[in-house]
Amino acid sequence: MATNRTFTMLKPDAVEKGYIGAILEKITASGFKIVAMKLTQMSKADAETFYAIHSERPFFGELVEYMTRGPIVAAVLEKDNAVEDFRTLIGATNPADAAEGTIRKLYAASMGENAVHGSDSDDNAAIESAFHFSGREIF
Ligand code: UDP
Ligand code: MG
Repeated sequence: MATNRTFTMLKPDAVEKGYIGAILEKITASGFKIVAMKLTQMSKADAETFYAIHSERPFFGELVEYMTRGPIVAAVLEKDNAVEDFRTLIGATNPADAAEGTIRKLYAASMGENAVHGSDSDDNAAIESAFHFSGREIF
C-alpha cells in the first residue's frame, strides 16, 4: 500500500542559485503539503550514510563533495501516492532526459548537480525522513 508521504532535499546547487522559493512553489502547487522542513547542511559522514547504497559507484566521492558543500532544504511532503507522484514531478536523474515542466528539467544543471532529491520507495521515504527529522519536527 502506498503511504502518503515522501522525503525531499533541495540540493546545494538549487539553494546556491536562489531556487528555493520557485521549487517550493512548484511542489505545493502540485498538491504536496509540507509537513516538515528545515535549512541544514550535511556533514561528510551524513552524506556517506544517506547515500550508502551508492558507496561503490564511481561518482560517490563527487556526490558526497557536492551534497556537503552548502546548505540544503530538507522536507517531508504529504500527498496521495506521494513517492511516485513526486518522482514524476522531479523528472529523470539526468535533466537532459527529464520531461518538460519537471523540476529537474527547469532547475537542474547536470546529472551530478540535479537540484532535488526524491525518495524512491515508501521504506526509503520513512528512513530518509527519520534521518533528517525527529518525530516532533514532523507535523
Ligand atoms: N548521480 C551522479 N551520477 C550518476 C548517477 C547519480 O552524480 O551517474 C548523483 C545524482 O546527484 C543523483 C544521486 O547521485 O541524484 C543519486 O543517484 P540515484 O541513481 O539514486 O538518482 P535519483 O534517485 O536521485 O534520481
Ligand atoms: Mg535515488
